[in-house]
Amino acid sequence: MSENSNIKTEDAKKSLNFIEVIVENDLKEGKNGSRLQTRFPPEPNGYLHIGHAKAICMDFGIAQRYGGICNLRFDDTNPVKEDVEYVDSIMEDIHWLGFDWGNLYYASDYFQQLWDLAVRFIKEGKAYVDEQSAEQIAQQKGTPTVPGTESPYRNRPMEENMELFQKMTDGEIEEGKMVLRAKIDMASPNMHFRDPIMYRIINHPHHRTGTTWKVYPMYDYAHGQSDYFEGVTHSICTLEFEVHRPLYDWFIDQFANSDYRPRQFEFNRLNLTYTMMSKRKLLQLVKEGLVRGWDDPRMPTVCGLRRRGYTPESIRNFVDKIGYTKYDGMIDVALLEHSLREDLNAKAQRVSAVLDPIKLVLTNYEGGKTEKMIAENNPEDSSKGSREVTFSRELFIERDDFMEDAPKKYFRLTPGNEVRLKNAYIVKCIGCKKDENGLVTEVYAEYDALTKSGSGSEESNRKVKGTIHWVSTEDYLDAEVRLYDRLFQIPDLDEEKDKDFRELLNPDSLVVKAGCKVEASLATAKALDHFQFQRIGYFNVDPDSTPDKLIFNRTVSLKDSWSKVKDKK
Ligand code: ATP
Ligand code: MG
Repeated sequence: MSENSNIKTEDAKKSLNFIEVIVENDLKEGKNGSRLQTRFPPEPNGYLHIGHAKAICMDFGIAQRYGGICNLRFDDTNPVKEDVEYVDSIMEDIHWLGFDWGNLYYASDYFQQLWDLAVRFIKEGKAYVDEQSAEQIAQQKGTPTVPGTESPYRNRPMEENMELFQKMTDGEIEEGKMVLRAKIDMASPNMHFRDPIMYRIINHPHHRTGTTWKVYPMYDYAHGQSDYFEGVTHSICTLEFEVHRPLYDWFIDQFANSDYRPRQFEFNRLNLTYTMMSKRKLLQLVKEGLVRGWDDPRMPTVCGLRRRGYTPESIRNFVDKIGYTKYDGMIDVALLEHSLREDLNAKAQRVSAVLDPIKLVLTNYEGGKTEKMIAENNPEDSSKGSREVTFSRELFIERDDFMEDAPKKYFRLTPGNEVRLKNAYIVKCIGCKKDENGLVTEVYAEYDALTKSGSGSEESNRKVKGTIHWVSTEDYLDAEVRLYDRLFQIPDLDEEKDKDFRELLNPDSLVVKAGCKVEASLATAKALDHFQFQRIGYFNVDPDSTPDKLIFNRTVSLKDSWSKVKDKK
């Protein structure tokens, strides 16, 4: 287990989720010799997303809490879509989330074993080779209330099935021309029992087994058997597999040579507002260049969230908050952002950054003079200490912190009004300069030398209504700042199912701001370091950043829309 262990929040500790209840009971009753073994079974056909993080927290988390073991098993049964790039990224992301596996397995490790079992199926009259097309097979499926039609090949002799399956295996049959089907019950009310396909022919090299195999097992057959081979006790997955469970059990029952049985349990998958979670569609976004890659900070992938500035703790805390149930629903993405703010508020170094700079000149401050001001690193955590920041006659401030004709409640810089410059002096605005188009180019103010922050004088404690941040023109760095918004425009993508998801993309999901001014202490910031840009939001250093060209991502703004939602309830 890596050091950021999965510690449940106080709230979550109070009640067990329904799978924890099952596990506790099973362990108490001594089921499976009081063993707990889970697995996380990703298909390496894409990068992990926040939905997988929910499954990971369950599979690894529950094993950890009850002294069990969780293995990582790559469900690599479809070589066409799979790749080692995905295998590597999945392992990296699980580690980053704070988990580690007991053993590393691949479904492809069992290809021979699974094939041998299929042969046994054929010999026992429980499987046959069907030569119909996929369309024909689909047409014969029937409906839940109308029984299906039996394939004309269903009752061919065992020897013929053996011979044909061998031919399929030897690469003598074209893709799509034959499949191996289990012979179960074409009239079963459970559609999954209507002679499910066990093997299909795929002529594509596999990322581990190369061109050895021409036939590949289907999920329903391979998954349960793999669980059985490994000794999984609790095979936990999402609700859409509930209807597959009887078939999962049936396949195992055909082979099991002991009392031991893995059992499948299902929980609700994560759906998030404004978020698309299908790996297939996420791959399309990447391939078509609609985002900058799997780790684009707008992507719901684990690597995208990491690059955006999410912390593993914020994701785990979020998963704890939403919990596990038996009902599908939609979670407000604001709750994820709330968990992130909570974590970053406690951890992020505060710094000063001006995203839309305009110059403020303190007309009564000596030119050429500089002072070091003391700035707290994190007011939430005094152990983080403080740093010095340079103060001077000319400063960068945010353009919208000045207004020439301001409404009454504008407590920032407007002629005649006083504000405090964070960690420095109180200044009084005396006017501005404009260019020929009327655009403000400089703002003027006078400072009050007696009001220096932290000096202890009575004047220094004087209260004014507004505080604004600033960066000295004598000591700063230029930076590019990438502002992100939701990738999609509508909360529930399923509501616009008829539309192409590309039409639902938010055209303003990325705004790049150049020429931002940040305090000089950021020269030593490393990729992915977290900061709070005071008064603006949480930001991190993008991996594209170099000492010559600093680049920051806006992780999340300071405003918390979730707290508002919660308060209304
Ligand atoms: P996708 O539909 O996005 O391609 P998948 O289910 O095909 O995802 P797998 O690699 O098969 O992806 O998933 C591995 C595990 O993660 C499975 O146990 C699956 O149930 C779980 N999982 C996938 N998506 C979610 C989700 N949105 N919420 C919770 N668990 C999920
Ligand atoms: Mg899947």
